[in-house]
Amino acid sequence: MLRSMRSLTAAARVPAVSAVTPLSAALRRNATVAPYMKKMRNIGVSAHIDSGKTTLSERLLFHGGRISAIHDVKGRDGVGAKMDSMELEREKGITIQSAASQIHWKDYTMNLIDTPGHVDFTVEVERAMRVLDAAILVLCSVAGVQSQSITVDRQMKRYNVPRVAFINKLDRIGGNPWKPISDMRSMLQLNAAAVQVPIGAESGFKAVVDIIKRESIYFDGASGEVLRYEPIPEDLKDLVEEKRAELIERLSEVDEELGEIFLNDEVPSVEQIKAAIRRATLANKFVPVFMGTAFKNKGVQPLMDGIVDYLPSPDEVNNVALDADKDEEKVILSHEEKKPLVALAFKLEESRFGQLTYVRIYQGTIKKGDTIFNVSTKKKVKLPRLVRMHANEMQDVTEAKAGDIVALFGVDCHSGTTFTDGTLNYTLSPMRVADPVISLAVRPKLPADSAKFNKALTRFVKEDPTFRVHTDQENGETIISGMGELHLDIYCERIRREYDCEVVIGFPQVNYREAITSKAEFNYLHKKQSGGSGQFGRVIGTIEPLHSEDGKKDNEFVNALSGNNIPPEFVPAITKGFEEAFNKGPQTGCPLQGVKVTLTDGASHAVDSNELAFRLAAIGAFKQAYAKANPVVLEPCMSVQIEIPEEFQGTVVGEITRRKGSIVNVDSRGDGYCVIDAEVALAKMFGYSTDLRSATQGKGEFTMTYKEHAPMTQEEAAVVSKAYQATLRADPDE
Ligand code: GDP
Repeated sequence: MLRSMRSLTAAARVPAVSAVTPLSAALRRNATVAPYMKKMRNIGVSAHIDSGKTTLSERLLFHGGRISAIHDVKGRDGVGAKMDSMELEREKGITIQSAASQIHWKDYTMNLIDTPGHVDFTVEVERAMRVLDAAILVLCSVAGVQSQSITVDRQMKRYNVPRVAFINKLDRIGGNPWKPISDMRSMLQLNAAAVQVPIGAESGFKAVVDIIKRESIYFDGASGEVLRYEPIPEDLKDLVEEKRAELIERLSEVDEELGEIFLNDEVPSVEQIKAAIRRATLANKFVPVFMGTAFKNKGVQPLMDGIVDYLPSPDEVNNVALDADKDEEKVILSHEEKKPLVALAFKLEESRFGQLTYVRIYQGTIKKGDTIFNVSTKKKVKLPRLVRMHANEMQDVTEAKAGDIVALFGVDCHSGTTFTDGTLNYTLSPMRVADPVISLAVRPKLPADSAKFNKALTRFVKEDPTFRVHTDQENGETIISGMGELHLDIYCERIRREYDCEVVIGFPQVNYREAITSKAEFNYLHKKQSGGSGQFGRVIGTIEPLHSEDGKKDNEFVNALSGNNIPPEFVPAITKGFEEAFNKGPQTGCPLQGVKVTLTDGASHAVDSNELAFRLAAIGAFKQAYAKANPVVLEPCMSVQIEIPEEFQGTVVGEITRRKGSIVNVDSRGDGYCVIDAEVALAKMFGYSTDLRSATQGKGEFTMTYKEHAPMTQEEAAVVSKAYQATLRADPDE
């Protein structure tokens, strides 16, 4: 999993854009920060699927004054949790789209984003990370750190997002906060320590002890809304002191001020410990760990205090924009409400009233009726309506200031667009987007539904940069591409439900690539000189595999012509010819990656040379050299992590081997489950969820992330190539 994330990072090469400022810088700026901003938090909730994010979010909304009753995920009351507003989400009990909501806690305002857990929807997580200042990492007290926790941890690290952890489900059999904490240290290399200890365990879990203040907190009332403070139970006193000492020691290692107190053998005060936690958390050197059970309404309010006490306000985070007028020079945005507007559209939704665009305001103020500037299209638009979102309900507002998250109505744009007031040409760095790895032919069942079908696809493409649509030039089919089977399944399902359009789905197709493994020369003449105006163009040079240091897989064209054998005006046509050839590999029709072409010489004819002749010469030259350059077919290879009860280990490992995967690691989780890390070709993973379910009596789970495109064996490549050649023969125009 770690390796897969690294390869994704390399492929995307988008720098992290927000970083927590060193405290001194943050303090210096505080002088100019408006008081409202100090009372603001932008928080994401991230976790492995099923850890209880949605359940916890529902409690945060409840205690934050947003809803008056709690409805659970797939609840018996048939209402469903507020943050899971899409019908499909409610039915499947999973969170697909992030939902944003604002809550109030004490005199603080928190924008809360519920992020999806399933790996096929990581782009949603990425977007949330980009606009949030901090996060809550939810872990299950039984499962500890799971595969998706590792992925979201990587994302939080990439975007320098400080976080608090919440260990949920302490009421479950086997629930224990110490295992997830030890997992966080060993598996995520986080300096984590508890700020609480539980009172009671499993079904007897009753309350928590605040080990900093040394008091017990009980959660009375139907929804745990009444807090009752009591002394620490006698039998827990030793444990509290032990964990308190551990907390201080861990903080002392990373915080100078507390370290000094610790070294001098002085006893730090409650305020000193809390200040040290805040400093260390903001510097991403420490993670305070809270605990409880969201479902049974225990432990949520102290977590909310923790958000206030230990997570940054928007002014404590550095946000960087690129100034398009100054060669993309980096500029630190100022957080001031009086400065020109800079805002990022990070999520779109279709609503009854048209497109709803969520924006994070980094600088300045946005007002209803303002004219704002879309930096991508360079167009000005008037902002007719501004709203604050609460899951699927909204409230009209007249203005919003730097640091805030609101939604715009009546503004047409893609996700990822930067808006300014028109005086600045800043862009906030693009979000990291991986290339799709799987494709599917899809069409409306009834031709009459074409308009609805196209409308749905247009909308999804706008919302989700990892979802692509194109028309197959050979057979005119509509092909959708995405990050996994489930990703595409969900979109097909949404076309059915939200657009009332039945669809016919083809077999999933893997997105292959082609590459060459050795250098080869070309010397190719394209010539047609019989009657009328002729064609003449000769190109000479080499193709070779490109070994770039940053793992970049783009193709490169080098013009190394010295004489005037090819007049310069024909070089663009030659480049174009090679580009065309790269887009359609001879073996599979899929693009080539990592090829360097060097054009060294050629020949032209005074009358018969033209752009077409040189373009066709380049295409011919490529075909000629490709065959000699030991070409290979590459297929997407996935990092797969499987969690299963240990008794099924043999069967599951056998199944992975049968799918020609390689086992990277097998680890016992210590609770009767084991975690298998494997690498398997995507094409071999079709239908795996069904197989895993039946092999493990429904108890196994797996996640899959794209790792890299890896060469196929020659026999396998030959099969793929044969199938492609057959489609060419079926279409003689090719
Ligand atoms: P998400 O996928 O992380 O959003 O998780 P959900 O909030 O959908 O929760 C997954 C399942 O765990 C649901 O059936 C919840 O009712 C259940 N759950 C959530 N929190 C707790 C908890 O504290 N204790 C127990 N026993 N179950 C919980």
